[in-house]
Amino acid sequence: MRAGDRQSARRPAGAHVRRLISFDIDGTLEVGDPPGVISLAVVRRALDLGFVVGSCSDRPLSFQRALWHHHAIPVNFTLLKQHLSHAKEFAADQYLHIGDSFIDQTMAKQAGFDFLHSVEDDVHAFLRRLRLLG
Ligand SMILES: [Mg+2]
Repeated sequence: MRAGDRQSARRPAGAHVRRLISFDIDGTLEVGDPPGVISLAVVRRALDLGFVVGSCSDRPLSFQRALWHHHAIPVNFTLLKQHLSHAKEFAADQYLHIGDSFIDQTMAKQAGFDFLHSVEDDVHAFLRRLRLLG
């Protein structure tokens, strides 16, 4: 094997970390009931950046799909909260769930996801670090 071959088999220098973000809806997204602090612009930006993005909520899947369709946001997945781990079928380097409840936190931990609390944590600072907010 030549040096060049070996190099090309490696992860290219500067390759982006592939992130997956699961959004709770109620209390997390601006369109939730109650509304949360995260705007749909953040969700769109995550998709633009190549993140794997979806919702994971107590809301029925039909509701989640209608919500995304209504706002013309082509998310990658919609899941019931107890099925968060199914999002691991997508290959990613980092898995994150953002939600506003203890249940969200527990489900995230059980599924092996990082967790961001949409009320208690500094969401805007976190989103800026991910280049999801200007
Ligand atoms: Mg919630």
